[in-house]
Amino acid sequence: MTEILEVGAERAADVVAVIHGAFAGRPVLDPPSTALEETEESVAAALAENGGLLAVHDGQPVGALLFVNGELLGLRRVGVLTDARKHGVASLLAERAEAVARQRGHAGLILEARTELPKTVQFWQRHGYTEVDRHGPQLHLQRLLPTRLTLPTPEDTTAIGERLAAVLRGGDLMILTGDLGAGKTTFTQGLGKGLGVRGSVTSPTFVISRVHPSLVGGPALIHVDAYRLGDSAELDDLDLDTDVDQAVTVVEWGSGLAEALSTDRLEITLHRAADDVRTMTVTPVGARWTGVDLGLG
Ligand code: ADP
Ligand code: MG
Repeated sequence: MTEILEVGAERAADVVAVIHGAFAGRPVLDPPSTALEETEESVAAALAENGGLLAVHDGQPVGALLFVNGELLGLRRVGVLTDARKHGVASLLAERAEAVARQRGHAGLILEARTELPKTVQFWQRHGYTEVDRHGPQLHLQRLLPTRLTLPTPEDTTAIGERLAAVLRGGDLMILTGDLGAGKTTFTQGLGKGLGVRGSVTSPTFVISRVHPSLVGGPALIHVDAYRLGDSAELDDLDLDTDVDQAVTVVEWGSGLAEALSTDRLEITLHRAADDVRTMTVTPVGARWTGVDLGLG
């Protein structure tokens, strides 16, 4: 059985042993990792300041990471002993780190990874992390935490669209996911209202996209319904008169298609629960949204 413990300086000896064990088994990087220079003292100091996680399997320490308190919760020295790999220990550490970020009130998490370790980069990408910047072989990977909302009535759903419109600017992309009738178009109507655009936002049954120009000198709203689209090539080829960089683009049924339009986006999922109540999850992706208060709290 694997347990993940939130630890302080009292477990420094175990944590430094895991760091040394995990990093010794890795290829030598350029510039080399300084993980092997960590001592019990340096790790104790880091743990005393910010805490960390220790993974224990059948009583044996097998994985660890150190936290760094910033605007986002930083993760460093993430390591799992070679013998314990492939048992999901790293995933358990990632999940617990996310829970700690939420508890401590951080908007998300950030870590540094090396391009020379593509499996590590892919691991974090599978856990929702995306690259936000790169200096030579060093990547910063970031995951912003989703916001969950309960929307009892259609008016609540439009009101959220209106509120979100206040933080949007040209070039922003929203990808909407949810079954038929979940409220994707209803939400987009709120966006249109908040942005002050011309024309009523409706389900575009026969057209794939519609452009609503601004009536207030702001960005236009491009409303796409990708329900009938086959693949992303078609979405790229959309013959939009309006420049996507200048407009706010909303793509219903866009998951798996519209990501190609921008590395920065809001992923919005609507779910219809009992009594017509909707739940909405908003996950910001990319550097565009770092430090941005969506005003949904
Ligand atoms: P989609 O675009 O996801 O297919 P629509 O927004 O077109 O969904 O339709 C949602 C329907 O459900 C509308 O008729 C709306 O009035 C109704 N509805 C009921 N409760 C809600 C709610 N809480 N939020 C959004 N829509 C709701
Ligand atoms: Mg719709």
